[in-house]
Amino acid sequence: MAKTIAINAGSSSLKWTLYEMPAEETIASGIVERIGLDNSIFTIKYGEGKKYEDVLDINNHEIAVELLLEKLDDLGVLTDINEIEGVGHRVVAGGEIFSESSLITDEVIEQIESLNDLAPLHNPANVTGIRAFKKVLPNITSVAVFDTSFHQTMPAVNYLYSLPYEYYEDFDARKYGAHGTSHQFVAERAAEILDKPFEDLKIITCHLGNGASITAVENGKSIDTSMGFTPLAGVTMGTRTGDIDASLIPYLMNRLELTDVQDMIDIFNNQSGLKGISGVSSDMRDLEAAEAEGNERAEIALRIFEDRVRNYVAQYMVKMEGADAIVFTAGIGENAPETRQNIINNFKFLGIELDEEKNNVRGKERIISTDDSKVKVILIPTDEELVIARDVEYFKNLAN
Ligand code: AMP
Repeated sequence: MAKTIAINAGSSSLKWTLYEMPAEETIASGIVERIGLDNSIFTIKYGEGKKYEDVLDINNHEIAVELLLEKLDDLGVLTDINEIEGVGHRVVAGGEIFSESSLITDEVIEQIESLNDLAPLHNPANVTGIRAFKKVLPNITSVAVFDTSFHQTMPAVNYLYSLPYEYYEDFDARKYGAHGTSHQFVAERAAEILDKPFEDLKIITCHLGNGASITAVENGKSIDTSMGFTPLAGVTMGTRTGDIDASLIPYLMNRLELTDVQDMIDIFNNQSGLKGISGVSSDMRDLEAAEAEGNERAEIALRIFEDRVRNYVAQYMVKMEGADAIVFTAGIGENAPETRQNIINNFKFLGIELDEEKNNVRGKERIISTDDSKVKVILIPTDEELVIARDVEYFKNLAN
C-alpha cells in the first residue's frame, strides 16, 4: 500500500507522520529529539494506542531517518520500506520564489538555502531533513511545502513595509507571513462547513498556538496576515513579542548592556510574550491555572493576548468589509474556550456572538457561534501534516 511521510525537521529534531494515501489515514507518527546530542529520544506512536520509545545516541538526521525506517519495518508498521512512495518536507521560508509547493531538485535545495536569512533557525534545519531523506530514499517523490506560500497572494499594499522601497527591491525586506498550510487548511474546511464556494467567502483564521498568527482570506486567497518578515511579528505569542516599536531595540540593548543585536532578537523570540509578561510560563494552561490562583501578571498576560488577537480580527474585518466566518485553530484556539469567549465578546455590538454551551468544547470541529450570529465562529482542528501529504499526492499523480 502506498504511504507518504510528512516531515518537520528542526535543528535537533525530526517530527513525522506516516499516512496511507490516498486514503489519508494516519498509520503512525512520532518524533526524534536531541539529534546530535547525547541521549536522543526516539518515539513512535502506532497501531491502536501502541507506543515505542528508546533513548540512544543519534549523531545526525541521516542516522535518524535510517533508524526510523528500520524501526517502522521491525514494528510491522511497514512490510517493506519501499512502501513509502512520497515524502513531504515542511519548509518555513519560501520567500518570493515559492508561491506553491515544489518537487525537490538540487536547484530547489539551493534556492531554499538562498533564503536562509529569512528563517535562520528553520530553513537550514529543514534542508538537513531534506538531504537526509534524499540520501536514504533517493527515488521517491520528494516535495517541499512552504509555510509562506499561501501568503504570496497578498497585495503590495499589505506586504510592503513603510521603508525605502529599494530595501524591498534590493534586500527582499517585506512581509512573508507564516503558518500558511494551517491557515489554508482551516479556511478551506470552513468553506466546506458553510457549504459555500471558497472563492466567494471572507474568512478570518486565527491560528493560536505557541506561535500565533491571524490571516484574512478573501475569495480563497490570503490577502493579509499578522506575521511579518519573520514569525516574530503580529500578536503576542508564547515567548515572542509580536509587534513592538523598533526604537526599543537600541534603547534596551543599551540598558541591558548587550553588544550583539542577535542577543536582543533572541530575547524577543524566546523570553517575551506570555512568558515574559507573566513571569510564570509560556503555556496557556499554566497561565489559566495561575490566573485562577490570583496571579495578576498571568491575568494581564492573558488579557494582552486576547486584546492583540482581537485587534487583528477587527482590522481584517474592516479590510474585507465584513466576514463570513472567524475560525479558531491550533493548541489555544482549539482548547481554550475562555480565551475564545473573551476575544469574541467585544464583537457583540456587530451582532457576532458565541453560544456559551457550544463554545464549551475542546479540539472538536464545531460552529460555536449562536444560530443568529452575523458571522459564524468555527472551531476547526488544524492538520498541517495532512496538507503536506496531500501536496505529495498531487505531485505523485502528476508524475503518473
Ligand atoms: P500548539 O503550538 O498549537 O501546540 O499550541 C500550544 C499552546 O496550546 C500552549 O499554550 C498550550 O498551553 C495550549 N493548550 C493546549 N491544550 C490546552 C488546553 N487544554 N487548554 C488551554 N490551552 C491549551
